[in-house]
Amino acid sequence: MAGRKLLTGADGSFLRVADLPADSPWVPLGTLDGRPVWAVDAPVTESLPGRWHSWPSLAALVPEPYATLAGRALAVVTWRRTHRWCGACRAELADVPGEMARRCPGCELYVPMQLSAAVLVAITRPGPDGGPDELLLVRHAYGPTGLWALVAGFVEAGETLEAAVHREVREEVGLTVAQVAYFGSQPWAMSGPGTLLTGFTARAAGPPAEPVVDGTELTEARWFPLDRLPAELPPAYSISRWLIDAARPAGGADAPGISVEKGPFLHRRR
Ligand SMILES: [Zn+2]
Repeated sequence: MAGRKLLTGADGSFLRVADLPADSPWVPLGTLDGRPVWAVDAPVTESLPGRWHSWPSLAALVPEPYATLAGRALAVVTWRRTHRWCGACRAELADVPGEMARRCPGCELYVPMQLSAAVLVAITRPGPDGGPDELLLVRHAYGPTGLWALVAGFVEAGETLEAAVHREVREEVGLTVAQVAYFGSQPWAMSGPGTLLTGFTARAAGPPAEPVVDGTELTEARWFPLDRLPAELPPAYSISRWLIDAARPAGGADAPGISVEKGPFLHRRR
């Protein structure tokens, strides 16, 4: 890795330890199929042979479990780079052997790698005149602005995941929801050193209401019939897309709540 970029061989395969200089700063990531896996925080991108990718482009390219492994590398290396000093006494933190954590040699402050939890919610309502259900999609004022996405946001301190769903829906589109149900989760390497996305389904509650956006965070929010969704949807490797696909009429066996405990990748559809 260099910055937020990930290096693969020219054919897209992951590098072996022997492919890199022996004095590389190795960071243990765990094991894959019983074999130890390491990441390297490389200083420059030019000095190493191969192809550099952003995590989204790599995740779209390689099969599981490699996309998740690349996301873990990005999260761990970014966390180490941004947690070098003790926040209490400014001493340099030291690794805790065998743990994804650092400790201050000066004041003993323990600094585990922490995750930020975020919620996404697929909100549906009955379609007009007995037609197909409708799904609420939104467009953001920043990032990929052309994409139709789900209402989402970070969980706040002292808040349950479900409370975060209700709050984000109220704040972002001014609606109330019911039947909030857990769908599944996905570690997400796009935002911050460690983000865990949790997906929910919900039904619009109360009398038919139209979403209202503030224009700063969201530019648009609209109901779409589930059989006529827009083409500009989140990528196939994202839990946003799994939620949307599971809500479609053809979702069938992939309906929310089914097979999630076997891993979110069962929801991937091509
Ligand atoms: Zn300290």
